[in-house]
Amino acid sequence: AKQSGKDRIQVFTADLVAGVKNRNTLLTDLRSTLDSQSLDVHYQPIYGLRNDSVVGFEALARWQHPVRGAVSPDEFIPLAEETGLINELGRQILKKATAQCHAWNLQFETALSVSVNVSAHQFANSDLLKMIVTTLAETGLSPALLKLEITESVLLSGYEGVADVLANARSLGIAICLDDFGTGYSSLSYLLNFPFDIVKIDKSFVTGLDSEYARAEMVRSITDLGRSLDMQIVAEGVETVHELARLREFNCDMVQGFLLSKPLDAQSVHMLLRDNELS
Ligand code: C2E
Ligand code: CA
Ligand code: CA
Ligand code: CA
Repeated sequence: AKQSGKDRIQVFTADLVAGVKNRNTLLTDLRSTLDSQSLDVHYQPIYGLRNDSVVGFEALARWQHPVRGAVSPDEFIPLAEETGLINELGRQILKKATAQCHAWNLQFETALSVSVNVSAHQFANSDLLKMIVTTLAETGLSPALLKLEITESVLLSGYEGVADVLANARSLGIAICLDDFGTGYSSLSYLLNFPFDIVKIDKSFVTGLDSEYARAEMVRSITDLGRSLDMQIVAEGVETVHELARLREFNCDMVQGFLLSKPLDAQSVHMLLRDNELS
């Protein structure tokens, strides 16, 4: 039998209630994970094409939930942003990632960098730069080895002082990377208005780069533009050898993607660096 309108509304309401409950338990669990500082960090190697070697890592938050298993950042990062937990989450990831990177550099006598994602919401906090400086002082990593990845949502946010925070971070030697380049509304105008050190071309432009003329020309133009504006270009989401070959041809500076490596836990990075040292 056909469901009556009223039944349908009841089902819909029940779903909504379940959704809110679900969100609230997830939030409670995220809060206690932060309280116990047990959020994890994975590291995706970034390769420099000049020397074909690892030049650094992107730190990516990982949450292994005791009941649900791995929860995707695409689920818990927005939740953290909506509830203000992102400030504490961001601080913990920055602390773990910079401490880890510094430890690797000491042990393997390297100067690897670490790229940390910073949400637009974190710029609402006037202590953001202070938090970053304090964390670097605590962990010992040189500011020159820290890269902050921001998306154009930061520049669109309208929060007071965004330009100052970015300029002050740069003056300390911290590099600023424009992430997800090309996916926003006015990416090009941001390049004019802010001196980024690095531009990361979004995966959506990289995928299929080798088989589509327009896509290839687009990526070629962005790498050329980066060179003339003195910005380094990273291509993200590289999954095939054919994409990689084109990126080399365009003199792209750095690449990141499943072809080279998935994000790795700290122990796997350790083994990678040790094997590198032996070879
Ligand atoms: P993002 O900053 O654009 O990070 C790149 C995402 O692409 C990561 O997903 C990474 O695992 C994935 N990826 C890398 N290479 C490939 C590839 O070759 N193919 C495909 N299909 N995917 C690839 P992940 O770790 O799930 O993170 C998703 C998003 O969550 C990130 O996108 C970032 O916006 C956010 N995020 C993750 N960790 C943090 C964090 O600590 N702080 C903040 N604010 N956001 C974070
Ligand atoms: Ca990123
Ligand atoms: Ca990205
Ligand atoms: Ca993204």
